[in-house]
Amino acid sequence: MGVEKVPKYNIPTKKVEYVFIELDKMKPHEQLVQKELEEFIESITGSGDFWKPMLLAKVPGEDMYLIVDGHHRWAGLEKLGAKKAPSVILDYFSDDVKVYTWYPAFKGDLNKVIERLKAEGLEVLEDKEAEEKAERGEIAFALVGKEKIFTVPGALNEQKKVSKVLDEMSVEGEIELIYYGLKEDAREDMGKGEIDYVFIRKAPGKEEVMELVKRGEVYSPKTTRHVLPFIPDKIDVKLEDLF
Ligand code: ADP
Repeated sequence: MGVEKVPKYNIPTKKVEYVFIELDKMKPHEQLVQKELEEFIESITGSGDFWKPMLLAKVPGEDMYLIVDGHHRWAGLEKLGAKKAPSVILDYFSDDVKVYTWYPAFKGDLNKVIERLKAEGLEVLEDKEAEEKAERGEIAFALVGKEKIFTVPGALNEQKKVSKVLDEMSVEGEIELIYYGLKEDAREDMGKGEIDYVFIRKAPGKEEVMELVKRGEVYSPKTTRHVLPFIPDKIDVKLEDLF
């Protein structure tokens, strides 16, 4: 998993009401990252304390909750055999909940990255219009560098393949992988030579996220970046009380 770079928002922490929701009533909207799952399991089994509530939202028309934040807590607790998790229920469609995306960027050899993408069956085509196409959601990603811009055609499945390749190459040490919260920050760092290329895609909308989970599908890791006006305060719940 790469490093995250996101602007400092100064979001205040807030004491929030939480409820215990059954894990089998929760639906993920993103794929898991094995390393993050392992880190959570190590942390929770080490301390025995669960301190960060899940953020959930009711799926309209279903007796289920969308996992807004907490995919690895959910999967980790399930793996440990727990039954429920402390959760904050959000009013997902309110203006307080914003959804953005992450822009994966790398420092490394472009040709090696392209070679690996092609080995996954992806096309990588030079295209000056790529960024506009990506912003309109017409392609999987635009791959933007200082001089060259490429289109990676496709949609959800192609985004998953790109994500897999970047994750693997980062683990292998072939690239330095950084996830940007804002593409402007990525561009600035590119100007300074800190990264070589950034992958740009359209951020999903809230309706799209809900439709996706209703279909039982998931995005690749780090597709959504949800921002709330507050960060829930730490809670003090014992792991043994979640069984
Ligand atoms: P995602 O962000 O992909 O939805 P998570 O938020 O569940 O997935 O990622 C794991 C989270 O678990 C991390 O944010 C980490 O801060 C949190 N965490 C680590 N240890 C504990 C713990 N003992 N209790 C509660 N949360 C924890």
